[in-house]
Amino acid sequence: MSMPPMAEQRLFIGGEYVEALSGATFESVNPATEEVLAEVPEAGPEDVDRAVKAARAAFEGPWRKVSAADRGRLLWKLATLIERDADELAELETRDNGKPIFESRKIDLPSVVDNLQYFAGWASKIHGETIPVAGPYLNYTLREPVGVVAAIVPWNFPLSLATWKLAPALAAGNTVVLKPAEQTPLTALRLGALVAEAGFPPGVVNVITGTGQITGRALVDHPDVDKIAFTGSTEVGKEIMRRAAGSLKRVSLELGGKSPNIVFADADLEAAIRGATSGIFYGKGEVCAAGSRLLVQRGVHDEVVQKLVGRARKMTAGDPLKPDTRMGALVSREQKERVLAYIRSGREEGAELVAGGEEAHVNGGKGFFVQPTVFDNVRNDMRIAREEIFGPVLAVIPFDSPEDAARIANDTPYGLAAAVWTRDVGKAHRLAREIRAGTVWINAYNLYDSASPFGGYKQSGYGRDLGMHALEQYTQVKSVWVSLA
Ligand code: NAD
Repeated sequence: MSMPPMAEQRLFIGGEYVEALSGATFESVNPATEEVLAEVPEAGPEDVDRAVKAARAAFEGPWRKVSAADRGRLLWKLATLIERDADELAELETRDNGKPIFESRKIDLPSVVDNLQYFAGWASKIHGETIPVAGPYLNYTLREPVGVVAAIVPWNFPLSLATWKLAPALAAGNTVVLKPAEQTPLTALRLGALVAEAGFPPGVVNVITGTGQITGRALVDHPDVDKIAFTGSTEVGKEIMRRAAGSLKRVSLELGGKSPNIVFADADLEAAIRGATSGIFYGKGEVCAAGSRLLVQRGVHDEVVQKLVGRARKMTAGDPLKPDTRMGALVSREQKERVLAYIRSGREEGAELVAGGEEAHVNGGKGFFVQPTVFDNVRNDMRIAREEIFGPVLAVIPFDSPEDAARIANDTPYGLAAAVWTRDVGKAHRLAREIRAGTVWINAYNLYDSASPFGGYKQSGYGRDLGMHALEQYTQVKSVWVSLA
């Protein structure tokens, strides 16, 4: 297979592509074919330092002089360039991540463009207030950028989650050092060229690649980083918080989930079953908000499970580059092994395997494919109901009453998302209040919009991406007093 034409294999620091000082590299592998796509530099502490210095210099220098309206224009220009190159970027994403090209091209890339445009609009609308204080004084606030933001993102939506951080950070006047996941560095590296073409001053956006242990840690430990915006696992989120405590860096965390998708007997069952299927199998289940626990009211349990199994069996894994493929390859061998180990644990704990459960063979045995898998009669204390699998594995849990449903839904350390399927408006809104999660969908699943905040309750993290709420993460308030005497 030929390498995609624009797979950049250098770091992007201070407005140009450079080699890592150490010369160390790692391989980025196509998970559908197991072929090496690129040799990517592993940024060591000295490269991280170069990137942070470039971001600091831009923050103190040229970026300060760019007006808010011009920051918006630059973001909009970047969106236009991404739209121009969307086919190429989508292909790069699919080759690097294993997700179906349908998802990269029709969902990820349009959402990246929309996100940049949405925050382009905000750049000129971020402002302070005047406060009616006592005495002969004028008091007003300035809403200022935080400074140098380290954005550390995972591999499941590489370009999309990078822009969730970049767009509000830049709109608010910060500079950014972006570290994509080591499994999927290619679209972020390509982004560097587009940032330069759009006309951002050098150093405003820097992209460095490498592992979490080396590059990620060096970024978190760097004394001149003001804020860490992290999306990833709860375990790493906790470690980042501990390490950031030394310098009291601001930290926002978007972490894992074990989201309940609740189907009541009075729901539109066909819609609920469609939603349950896409809720867990979209993005190969490697989705932080995946509806991985399907709570089904007992009266309709058998019908729902039977239809769900029919859908799961039809959803065969295929070559991610084919336009009609809806189930791609898991991101890595490690992830495939992890998912298969959870499937074994489900069997051992006595859950009933009703669909899938095995590796899928797509590419003459090459690639990291797993069949869409459904376990029925799962108890909420089993590992497959408690731990985030991050793969196409659904745990069906029967329940009796709405109180039961709310109790089981909340019996998890996570709180990222949830859904409720019912025709009873009152019950739907009651449940929406009772469930402790950052997002609740009613008669829908997996809806996202640049304008609507997204983030976690409990151990799914804190801070919000998207919407005007994201801007709070990237600004700080200064109170200015003026004597009128
Ligand atoms: P991960 O936590 O292992 O890695 C995420 C990023 O952190 C990568 O860039 C990685 O290199 C870096 N990293 C790893 N260890 C680090 C360290 N010690 N210091 C600094 N950086 C470090 O997670 P993953 O396996 O790549 O992604 C899957 C996880 O992400 C899942 O748990 C999923 O739920 C979560 N996720 C959450 C959201 C959300 O919005 N809440 C979105 C997508 C994914």
